[in-house]
Amino acid sequence: MPAPDELEKNITHDDAHTMTIAFISDLHLDPVRPESTQWFKEFMSHSIDRLSRLYILGDLFEVWIGDDGRDTLGQGAVENIIKATVHAGLDIFFMHGNRDFLVGNDFAKRTGCKILPDPTLITLDSKQVLLTHGDALCTDDIEHQTARQEMLTAKWKMAFLNKPVNQRMDTARSMRTQSETSKKTKSMAMMDVNQQQVEKVMREHGVLTMIHGHTHKPAVHEFSLDGAPAKRYVLGDWYTQKSVLYYDHGGFALRG
Ligand code: MN
Repeated sequence: MPAPDELEKNITHDDAHTMTIAFISDLHLDPVRPESTQWFKEFMSHSIDRLSRLYILGDLFEVWIGDDGRDTLGQGAVENIIKATVHAGLDIFFMHGNRDFLVGNDFAKRTGCKILPDPTLITLDSKQVLLTHGDALCTDDIEHQTARQEMLTAKWKMAFLNKPVNQRMDTARSMRTQSETSKKTKSMAMMDVNQQQVEKVMREHGVLTMIHGHTHKPAVHEFSLDGAPAKRYVLGDWYTQKSVLYYDHGGFALRG
């Protein structure tokens, strides 16, 4: 039985080394941009000793056509990075983005990460924090919301996943092209989150803190929610650098 002061030392020691939590999203990993995958690999190997938990809030992959499409997509290396990190003892949570909403249970089994629903409420110390990918907050983009609603149905997913892998690749490519074309007609404001929707969702979940990605506009937004100070942390993409939100000792720090 350790003396009380020894016990306290141990707790402090553990805190310093195990309490950091990180949030990332929108890495858009794609074999055509190997540098992002390299950054991810470096980040993950550094994370093993530094983090107690890692949350990936969607769009880890540029596209995902089903768990059986991993090799066709050339994403075996990314799965191995996650698997190795989980194996080394880090808890990894994955939430779907609009690009990788077809990540499924086979992926979770192969890598050892846990899939979270969007949105998910977590508790950091005694603070309730809402995690979401973020595209559901972009309610001004009616076209995206309509497509989202359809593609998230079990019926749509099943019909898509029942097609041969090559056909799914073709569909994903043409959807990408269509989306890029229609994006050009949309304003930046239309593709950003709708503040009323943000407030509605935060109110529904009884939170004053929200973390999301999707918009690729890293920032900390402070505002008043029904008279109380609220914060919305937005994660950035990994096209040109790593973007990571850390939580440690009661505080958040957005890097990159
Ligand atoms: Mn997204």
